[in-house]
Amino acid sequence: MMDVPLTVGMIMRHGTTVHGDGEVLTWTGEGTRRASYAQVGRHAARLAGALRGLGVTGDQRVATFQWNNQEHLEAYLAIPAMGAVAHTLNPRLAPDQVAWIANHARDEVVIVDGSLVPLLARALPEMKTIRHVVVASAADTPVDITGLADAGKQLHSYHELLAAAPEQFDWPTDVDERSAAAMCYTSGTTGDPKGVAYSHRSTYLHSMCICTGEAMALTSADRILPVVPMFHANAWGLPYAALMSGASLVMPDRNVAAEPLVRLVEAARPTVAAAVPTIWGDVLRHLRERGGDMSSIRQVLCGGSAVPPALMKAFAEELGVRITQAWGMTETSPIGSVATPPVGARGEEVWRYRTGAGRLVAGVEGRVVDDGDVVLPCDGTSVGEIQVRGPWVTARYYGEEDSARFHDGWLRTGDVGTLDELGFITISDRAKDVIKSGGEWISSVRLENLLMGHPKVREAAVVAVPDHKWGERPLATVVIAEGERISAAELRDHLSASVPAWQLPERWSFVSEVPKTSVGKFDKKLIRRRYASGELDVINP
Ligand code: ADP
Repeated sequence: MMDVPLTVGMIMRHGTTVHGDGEVLTWTGEGTRRASYAQVGRHAARLAGALRGLGVTGDQRVATFQWNNQEHLEAYLAIPAMGAVAHTLNPRLAPDQVAWIANHARDEVVIVDGSLVPLLARALPEMKTIRHVVVASAADTPVDITGLADAGKQLHSYHELLAAAPEQFDWPTDVDERSAAAMCYTSGTTGDPKGVAYSHRSTYLHSMCICTGEAMALTSADRILPVVPMFHANAWGLPYAALMSGASLVMPDRNVAAEPLVRLVEAARPTVAAAVPTIWGDVLRHLRERGGDMSSIRQVLCGGSAVPPALMKAFAEELGVRITQAWGMTETSPIGSVATPPVGARGEEVWRYRTGAGRLVAGVEGRVVDDGDVVLPCDGTSVGEIQVRGPWVTARYYGEEDSARFHDGWLRTGDVGTLDELGFITISDRAKDVIKSGGEWISSVRLENLLMGHPKVREAAVVAVPDHKWGERPLATVVIAEGERISAAELRDHLSASVPAWQLPERWSFVSEVPKTSVGKFDKKLIRRRYASGELDVINP
């Protein structure tokens, strides 16, 4: 067979020619602006020419500080296809963290969305390696860039740069498929951010995986709404999978609250959508209060943290929309498993599979390993750390020679759980969130899911707190649904129907909101810190 390199350039060529009639729609909050994939391809050529003009060569890093929109998609294509590396920065991080990450990656240029200029302005003076700032916005939106002026960087307008650039770009044909196409830092939920560099090859193969029937079954008839940000593990690979399958993209831009999202769904009628569970929880509450039409959606992809079964059931029963749970990490591109039940499953068994973390996808292998590095059987009951390997699983962190996360050709995921003989993963906790009580493990995820299954509970996060007798015990922080009342004792009773008495939390805290990380997950580190410093009102029923 011909040895053709698998590159983002190939994805771009295919998507912008063969599927040149596909579209990217960007929500303005009032309506959508549209561009065909053919137009996106033409803009990408001009952007590549413009970046070359700014001196971008080789595998230099071009950072993006943008929402999910047309211009970000153009950058996603142009930067890797010209041989450079697209580095998505997370605008929800603190400015010093943004600067730390950009310096670590040695970013040379940053493309910033006009609405994010004030945020970038706070980080820019410390972004030492950046030479050029390109301010992107919809063609007709003026942007105030005064905040950027004092950082000593050269400033450019995206549209002026593109207008001045040549129409054609001489795309390189010798890009090594094993070289980096894009990079992303973990959001640091459990430690310092770590850089992951995705190769052209890994991006290509991962995109094919997403298109398959066992994953999202994408075709050119689909319209994909990635609510998950393009700076969070490449929006789970959906933009590239869209170009590969010809599916159109419906981009929310900065409008990711429930109300504008529902209006966007009604206006643009996406067929598939993807976001972390907290977003869908907000959408469900909004729909219950105000109504709305989600009927265009055939499948919602949900992951990033355990998806509460109550949420999946409510979507199925109240909206007729299927939530498919998937598991993955920034380190795994991110898709590792997708929760599609085996054909023979019936009734409650179906829910048991759907509420787990899913079945390994072709290309990703998994195993369960105990504390002493002994590989455990895949029997659905032996609990240990899940380890994975595959062509889109990272083999190291960027700029780190040696990390304990990689062992024997496997990635230690830091997730604790089981694998069964059919490759279905169940995750009981992150290793760092596990509650070790008197030598036994209590799953915080299970307690959270049970609590969030109570109709009067809006959100619940359970964390380990120190206990002089047991080592650690669970603390339940609970947000009660609006207009409802319920006591800790009643919630304990509710739990006791499903878990043994020794697992029941004795510490409870009712809060108005569970704190979230920059990618919308429960911030357990912060909850533990608040407990330790006495900031939480804790009751013992
Ligand atoms: P961060 O590490 O900063 O949170 P990631 O998005 O890379 O960013 O997080 C990956 C982690 O998210 C996984 O290791 C796992 O703990 C959690 N996760 C992802 N999907 C699921 C899922 N379906 N069920 C439970 N946990 C999940």
